Amino acid sequence: MNVPLLDLRPQHGELREEIIERVVQVIDSTRYIQGPEVEALEQEVADYCGTSHAIGVSSGTDALLVALMALDIGPGDQVLIPPFSFFATMGVVLRLGARPVFADIDPISFNINPDRVEEILAADAGRKIKAMIPVHLYGQCADMERLLGLSQRYGVPLIEDAAQAIGAQVPLAAARTWPRAGSMGLAGCFSFFPSKNLGGIGDGGMVICQDESFARKVSLLRNHGAHPKYYHALVGGNFRLDPIQAAVLRVKLPRLESWHAQRRRNAQRYHDLFSSFGFADDERLQVPEAVHEPQARSCATNVNYHIYNQYVIRVHERDALRDRLQEQGIGSEIYYPLGLHRQHCLSDSADMPEMKHTEQAAKETLALPIYPGLTEAMQEYVVQTIRSFYR
Ligand SMILES: *Cc1c(COP(=O)(O)O)cnc(C)c1O
Repeated sequence: MNVPLLDLRPQHGELREEIIERVVQVIDSTRYIQGPEVEALEQEVADYCGTSHAIGVSSGTDALLVALMALDIGPGDQVLIPPFSFFATMGVVLRLGARPVFADIDPISFNINPDRVEEILAADAGRKIKAMIPVHLYGQCADMERLLGLSQRYGVPLIEDAAQAIGAQVPLAAARTWPRAGSMGLAGCFSFFPSKNLGGIGDGGMVICQDESFARKVSLLRNHGAHPKYYHALVGGNFRLDPIQAAVLRVKLPRLESWHAQRRRNAQRYHDLFSSFGFADDERLQVPEAVHEPQARSCATNVNYHIYNQYVIRVHERDALRDRLQEQGIGSEIYYPLGLHRQHCLSDSADMPEMKHTEQAAKETLALPIYPGLTEAMQEYVVQTIRSFYR
């Protein structure tokens, strides 16, 4: 059986006609830069996430970059990030001439550990840390309750890297609410890269926020800082979202919740299959905990509404298992094999302090197929293949 890591065809199959029609409308409109499709998508994403502002940009990377630019991050500044993320989380810091400061992750959630964040902020006597970027890795929100508290206490703005987590939710006990990923910090950044839960047919991204003046600055920066046209009080860039992408994303957005639900159902199926094969007490393989249903959501428990952009297990002999899966026609991926603090583009990567949990996760994690449209038979085959590897 062939089980790819991701197959977009089941999703695109049913939307094909509608997508083509909307793309043709954009072509016929001759509005190819900004315009009504982009504005409509911005409004729809803002409504979905519960924010007052959304600014379409050219990618998730540019969403992060423009958010840091709006904070005037530059040389001499530091930005606090987790070392276990996609490169963009660090790349944008370096591109602005600032330095990343790393807080190691929690080994269960793989998200930044607020205890480490607190230690680092408390020790930052020179107040060089000008922003923090928690990442909602794999579609599960970081511990926002504590991170927002630290952001406030130390006066360090919080930008959410929600590239993998559009629609995820997390309880904030203090506010007795379940805000969506990206809507809690000063700004949240999304990616519409095709493999994200809401993906375009090319690159795209968005910044969401509640603060009007921040939104205004981001929207100026995305278009060379021009206001009015050809008058530049700020140096921005071309970070605009393409209307063709906006048109496709508008077809997909109303289906997003049902795709989240299918990914969550698939995650629960994996959990049940692994349990029925007796992996519950096997130290060689740790699987994510059972899926929490929305009805069970309560502000008393720190349980996330995880959207499973990735379903990631932690295993012994990871690389040999991955080879076996590949031989059997099963796709998998390592997100990520090398911590950001060890990347060679950092001149001092060799001198970085050890990030124990990141280094262990980089050796042990493996993402399995989880996309909507994955069948029960495919999941049984994946779990059977893993089971026979460990027997
Ligand atoms: C995908 C991703 C990005 C970058 O998004 P692009 O649209 O590919 O530029 C940033 N951060 C994380 C955590 C991501 O997964």
